This record gives sequence, structure tokens and C-alpha cells, in this order.
Amino acid sequence: MENKDLKLGFDKILDGNKEWMDFVKNDTSGRFQQLAKGQNPEILWIGCADSRVPANELTGTKPGEVFVHRNIANVCVHSDMNMLSVLDYAVNVLKVKHVIVAGHYGCGGVAASLSRKQFGVIDNWLCHIKDVYRLHAAEIDSIQDPEQKTNRLVELNVVEQVFNLCTTSIVQNAWKERDDLAVHGMVINIGSGELIDLDTTFTNNESLGKVFAYS
Ligand SMILES: [Zn+2]
Repeated sequence: MENKDLKLGFDKILDGNKEWMDFVKNDTSGRFQQLAKGQNPEILWIGCADSRVPANELTGTKPGEVFVHRNIANVCVHSDMNMLSVLDYAVNVLKVKHVIVAGHYGCGGVAASLSRKQFGVIDNWLCHIKDVYRLHAAEIDSIQDPEQKTNRLVELNVVEQVFNLCTTSIVQNAWKERDDLAVHGMVINIGSGELIDLDTTFTNNESLGKVFAYS
């Protein structure tokens, strides 16, 4: 690489990996040898792609403990084969017990969805969040402060994405077979590090409504 800054940025990652390799080498618990054989996580984390919200660090979990899917603004769309594949594998093969949708205050994707500006291809993705706004327009419009407006939509977006997950055939069919699968909605406060439970947990399809709950 001729560009020195470019090389420095890449070298930082390789140097970081050397430190990690030393850590793995000096670990005497045997857990990395165990992890090399396979994974058995109990949690599926669906979070925002934002660089400030890493699942493991935020939850004090280690490699092997959390199966992770991230996209811009933690959106769960029923036609997204990427998300559906992750969900199906996590629920039906790994048999995770907790699915967590984790949004975060100050989410750029959510803030952008409240504006009329175009940002590129992402506009079509953000339209899913504009749909959430449409469901809650009266409440969002009643908030004057732009930051609070965004943060309330962050919360409501998580609530709606949790609902979207619960209405998938994947989650509903799993509930027919077992009672140890919970879907939760949470929000991260990046400044304090707090992971806030929005108390929107589902463990069955009983409250999904007559059109959404499969018989
Ligand atoms: Zn975000």
C-alpha cells in the first residue's frame, strides 16, 4: 500500500490481532479449543451496524455466547432473506433462548428517517422506519426537541421490529414446539453504556392479534 495512512490503519488491525493471538495462546481454560469445535450460544442479538454498539462488549459476553446480526437501524423486515436466514438458523438449529432487538439512542439511521433528505440507496431501507413513524406520527410530532424526537422513534422502532420478528412463521412455529424462546426489545445509551429493557418481551403469539397470530 503506497498511501501511508491507509497502511497504518490496516496495520493497526493486524497488530491488534497479534495481541489477541497472545491472549488466546495464554488462556489455559481450554475454551478456545472448545470454541474451535463449534458454538452453542443462547442469545441472538439483532443490533444496529453502528460502530459504537458491539454486542459482546455491551453485554459482558465472550466469543461463543452471542449469535449476531446487525444492519442499519436494526430493522427486521419479513422479506429480508439475510435476517430470516440468521433468525431461522439461530432459532431452529442453535436453539437460542433469547432474541434481542437492540436499538441505540442517537441512531443516525433513525434520525435520517425523520428528515426529507435523500441519502442514496439507504433511503429505501430507511422507509421501513418512516413506516414506524407513520404508525406513531401523533406522538412523534408532539415532541419538539429533535434529539428527543429521534430517541423516542428509536424506542418505537425497536418495539415494532420485535413485533415483526414475533409475527414471522419462524418464531411462531418455534413457539408451537417449545416454551423457552423469548423475544426482547432493548435500547443502548452509548454515553452511559446502559442497556435498557423496553419491557416489550414476547414468549408466545397470544397477543399478536387475530390477523398476525397463526392458528
Ligand atoms: Zn444506529
